[in-house]
Amino acid sequence: MTKLRLALIGIGKIARDQHLPAIAASPDFTLAAAVSRNATVEGVPNFADIDALIASGLAIDAVSICTPPLGRHGIAARALAAGWHVMLEKPPGATLAEVQALRPGTRTLYASWHSRAAAGVAPARAWLAERRIRSARIDWREDIRHWHPGQDWILAPGGLGVFDPGINALSIATAILPQPLFVTAAQLDFPANRGAPIAAALTLAQGDSVVTAGFDFLQAGPQSWDIAVETDTGSLLLRDGGATLVIDGVGQALAETGEYPGLYRHFAACIAAGRSDVDLAPLALVADAFLIGARREVAAFEF
Ligand code: NAP
Repeated sequence: MTKLRLALIGIGKIARDQHLPAIAASPDFTLAAAVSRNATVEGVPNFADIDALIASGLAIDAVSICTPPLGRHGIAARALAAGWHVMLEKPPGATLAEVQALRPGTRTLYASWHSRAAAGVAPARAWLAERRIRSARIDWREDIRHWHPGQDWILAPGGLGVFDPGINALSIATAILPQPLFVTAAQLDFPANRGAPIAAALTLAQGDSVVTAGFDFLQAGPQSWDIAVETDTGSLLLRDGGATLVIDGVGQALAETGEYPGLYRHFAACIAAGRSDVDLAPLALVADAFLIGARREVAAFEF
């Protein structure tokens, strides 16, 4: 089968850490070009922006966009207008309406949520589907200086702040919990010199149960990417961002296939089926936290 010719856009940390290896190993895609203002990828034509790629006339079937969320819409809209399939890194955009405004037509638009492809997520969803949820607790606490060194855009307006990682937890929670989630209260801590929160606490409703969530970008020591769920017949703990699943205290054996290879397989399957996959539920929860959240100014932050 001929591979789809893919242009990777926004060559930064996640493009290098995950996308390039996943594309190199993909049976469905071949890297045909890279698009980035400063960075380049060896062995393929490089372009400074998508307009230069379009103007080049290079044959492309699909693009995968790894730039920060602010500015994604224009890139995705141009790619769709060029007749290309589009995969979006999470979050799919800086606002809900800009993603809804994308019109894929006969092309595929795929808003990816890499954490949903973690090994424990599908078995957790299956286990929880048969149970009544009593409560759930999300703890997503990481050290921004370690994981996002110098990424000032994360703490600028539109960068989502601590919800940049936190939306991964919400992408898992919305996938594994059987009832729709909605935010009932939120507390957002904004550093005095930044435009996005560095910590947040959320209370959410899910059916008749309460879900609480703590997001912290200043976590020193052990990092946590955990979701704990109490049900009428036992407890479930998803740890390590969904990679580890513990049920009633017993670790579960999981088939590890890798998050990003799974995303590219799904993108290819959507293209083959002529459909799009755009679930905005995690971004809606973040937007709603910004809508109803109480804001508190905290100490200025420097990397
Ligand atoms: P990053 O290291 O800052 O890379 C993003 C790249 O996009 C930059 O290197 C930059 O390359 C390009 N870019 C284009 N417009 C930009 C702008 N206005 N400001 C800054 N850079 C711009 O960020 P990242 O960590 O790869 O994250 C990118 C996206 O992937 C985010 O949506 C993030 O949530 C998601 N993601 C990140 C991780 C992670 O662990 N880092 C994990 C999963 C998903 P040029 O200067 O060459 O244009």
